[in-house]
Amino acid sequence: MSQLTVGKDVLSYCSKCKLNLNHTIVAMKDSQTIAKVKCNTCKTMHAFKDPSQSKTKQTGTRIKKVASPSASKIVSVSDLWMDKMSNTTKKSTPYSVKTKFAEGDIIDHTKFGPGIVEKVIDDKIEVVFRHEIKTLVHNK
Ligand SMILES: [Zn+2]
Repeated sequence: MSQLTVGKDVLSYCSKCKLNLNHTIVAMKDSQTIAKVKCNTCKTMHAFKDPSQSKTKQTGTRIKKVASPSASKIVSVSDLWMDKMSNTTKKSTPYSVKTKFAEGDIIDHTKFGPGIVEKVIDDKIEVVFRHEIKTLVHNK
């Protein structure tokens, strides 16, 4: 990806020329976002318009931008925890290394709070807590 900086040329849609033309960057919103550009053809200064978003103009029909399903949603630990906790009816069990836990069990940990057993690996359990996923021992 090329660096976007003030003074650099960029392709933008010009509302005056009604074309995608080369523009010079006049102002940046941040390092990735262009705020203002100057048309190299008509010398008009205007807000940057992404040329790829003005292509549907001619047909008159507006194609709604659909978020591609491949764009995987980033699920945070707390989202995962919230999801799991809201989908369970189990009662929580205070955590102890001596207790044997099973997948889906709710643990009440003195330090990490409530968590849900995601996986059981022999004498270890993977627990989803509000802010982190922890591996704990059980069934000792
Ligand atoms: Zn222009």
